[in-house]
Amino acid sequence: MAISLQNVQFAYSEAPDKTVLNIRHWSVSEGEQVFVHGPSGGGKSTLLNLLSGILKARGGEVSILGERLDQMGSRQRDRFRANHIGYVFQQFNLIPYLDAIDNIQLAAHFSARKRRQALDDEIRELLSILNISPADWHKPTTRLSIGQQQRVAIARAMINKPELLIADEPSSSLDQQNRDKFMSLLMPLVADHKMTLLFVSHDMSLSQYFKRIEALSNINAACEIH
Ligand code: ADP
Ligand code: MG
Repeated sequence: MAISLQNVQFAYSEAPDKTVLNIRHWSVSEGEQVFVHGPSGGGKSTLLNLLSGILKARGGEVSILGERLDQMGSRQRDRFRANHIGYVFQQFNLIPYLDAIDNIQLAAHFSARKRRQALDDEIRELLSILNISPADWHKPTTRLSIGQQQRVAIARAMINKPELLIADEPSSSLDQQNRDKFMSLLMPLVADHKMTLLFVSHDMSLSQYFKRIEALSNINAACEIH
């Protein structure tokens, strides 16, 4: 299993009485691509942060790629994430003053697996596949378009060849045409690398790219249907 959750509960420490996640059982097989949709505020980002070990569950079992995240300390979870999980954030979280290559190199730096020599070639190849032209490789990422920044964020998430790719509404700031382009670049890359993909969004039109589609309200008992 890529993801397996049992009786998972989560509340933010700022609001301990408000249960944000209450998941009895949920799992995703390795190599599956899953689209989870739900309303804003339903707990999508919280779920992804929990699965990647950024947040820790209050109770229950969180197994990722057969490892119990809930039994790890925060440093172990950070190391696990760097080695096994690629994360694409809604707001990209690129380092603005670094160029595309340096942003991706930085992600590779945190992973123990990466051998140095092949890295530059792999970065160039990924950027090319993702349609970032060489002229843009050395610009600070703030000088790239939103669409380009989003594709650099994908390259950064994929450089360590993570088994699990997590995407948090990564195309919500793109217009329809760029959103379709983005998805048609992302999906074959994920398939080629046989990655497990968990993609969340409130935008149901993106579900066409997925075979497995789930409503967050069916997974998370704390997410009310509006
Ligand atoms: P979504 O990604 O589906 O929009 P979130 O996971 O961001 O939903 O938020 C779920 C709930 O948790 C919301 O009610 C939100 O206000 C609350 N929440 C999110 N982040 C925090 C935080 N850092 N501290 C306290 N509450 C939070
Ligand atoms: Mg969110």
